[in-house]
Amino acid sequence: MQAFDCAIVGAGPAGMSAAIRLARGGATVAVLDRATRAGGQIYRAAADNPLPDAAALGPDYTEGAALIAEFERADITYFTQADAWHLGDDGRVLFSHQGDTRELHCREMLLCPGAMERPMPIPGWTLPGVMTAGAAQVMLKSDAMVAGGAIFTGSGPLLYLIVAQYLRLGVPVAALVDTTPRRNYLDAAPLLPRALRCLPMLTKGLSLLREIRAAGVRTYRGAHNLRVLGTERAEGLRFNAGGRSHDIAADTVFLHHGVQPNLNMTRAMDLAHRWNPEQLSWQVETDAFGQSSVPHVSVAGDGAGIVGADGARAAGRLAALNILCRLGRLPRADRDRAAAPDLAARAAMAPFRAFIDRLYRPTDALRLPQDPATLVCRCEEQSLAQLRAGFDQGASDPNALKSLTRCGMGPCQGRQCGHIVAGLLSDWRGEPPEAVGYYRLRSPQRLLTLDELSRFHAASAQARAEAAE
Ligand SMILES: Cc1cc2nc3c(=O)[nH]c(=O)nc-3n(C[C@H](O)[C@H](O)[C@H](O)COP(=O)(O)OP(=O)(O)OC[C@H]3O[C@@H](n4cnc5c(N)ncnc54)[C@H](O)[C@@H]3O)c2cc1C
Repeated sequence: MQAFDCAIVGAGPAGMSAAIRLARGGATVAVLDRATRAGGQIYRAAADNPLPDAAALGPDYTEGAALIAEFERADITYFTQADAWHLGDDGRVLFSHQGDTRELHCREMLLCPGAMERPMPIPGWTLPGVMTAGAAQVMLKSDAMVAGGAIFTGSGPLLYLIVAQYLRLGVPVAALVDTTPRRNYLDAAPLLPRALRCLPMLTKGLSLLREIRAAGVRTYRGAHNLRVLGTERAEGLRFNAGGRSHDIAADTVFLHHGVQPNLNMTRAMDLAHRWNPEQLSWQVETDAFGQSSVPHVSVAGDGAGIVGADGARAAGRLAALNILCRLGRLPRADRDRAAAPDLAARAAMAPFRAFIDRLYRPTDALRLPQDPATLVCRCEEQSLAQLRAGFDQGASDPNALKSLTRCGMGPCQGRQCGHIVAGLLSDWRGEPPEAVGYYRLRSPQRLLTLDELSRFHAASAQARAEAAE
């Protein structure tokens, strides 16, 4: 079977930028993404947005259309609706594509799976009517669907961006319940002078906050002790702020507590990972070009540690230059010369990222459930109390707890509960996350039907072209 020089999983800013650079360097490239159009999270549907006025989503969004157009024009074999579920270190990739299983081979692999929102397991977080703020944005970008009169709660720039996008479209917001603790402002203050060097990014963030204030949205700061009200579905939010308790009625509550790398692929490949104490998350270990502990596997973008859209584009280009060098298509000196601007831009962005990470550092009270009845593993319906009972029976690492309770064995394969379970065990054992570890993940990384497995095809550039005819 013909092997591609490089297979890329993920057509967000990192994957698209890498693919364009690789194709320009003469490499044969296959890109897989489970979405119907390229764009990833930030540029979702940017090329064919259903909103009457997509400009309301902001210039960072609309400028994605140019990158998507360049990607779609490039000489790349692009599989849409392609869900990668096995990546072997022998260069074999298996993926579901329109109901079939497909296989391709590659010499180099680049993983750009992006980020996921950090779960916020407050009491009531599994009730109908409670979603993540990212889900609100997905509905908005893909289908022009909104939930008027919703409460947005949590912390971080993405939360404020989504609230501002709602307001620009004239969608009423019941309240913004901001959980950023006051002490985070003090903790982040020493990092502010260096962050001021990235003035345009700081100004962008401040203007979002001003926009929300100017719209007169009811805003509560320093909120804690959150609980979604309702028994059958969400009826509102109860919380403490300003020294008293508040109840706000709403039938939709959007939660957001920052983002963290999507680890399932990098973990399933057994790449080396390290704990990032500033972002309070695991991230894959790479060099400056995204090359992982397995030399022909690279990782770029938010999937390798949260860097934002510009950082993801830069990381994609850097990974592509290194892969071209490894393929013998670019001399090392040329790689280093071409990489210099992106390496410099990334170094310039670092103080801003450090400031943001410190300011919006997740609080343990929202990162880890506090109420024994709160569900931790939503797929297998395992509550905090059930997991604690498993721990008390001797299951003291994530895999032992998984075997005993089935947490992490459901359809999401631990994507939602992995970080919470590891955090709880770290807390209960009184040991750092590095000592506790994470779920051992294996292929297939998604649920597969036997029917799908039985329809097995090789995927090559030629087969792709024939299928498209
Ligand atoms: C819900 C959400 C919304 C966000 N919205 C914004 C925003 O509006 N503005 C902003 O500045 N930042 C936003 N971010 C942050 C954003 O992730 C980054 O700034 C940027 O998009 C990262 O680019 P990336 O290429 O690394 O990953 P992404 O853009 O996330 O792209 C990753 C791609 O990989 C694909 N993928 C993952 N796993 C597989 C698999 N197994 N098989 C096939 N395809 C796969 C996904 O479908 C996705 O298209 C958002 C993050 C999230 C989680």
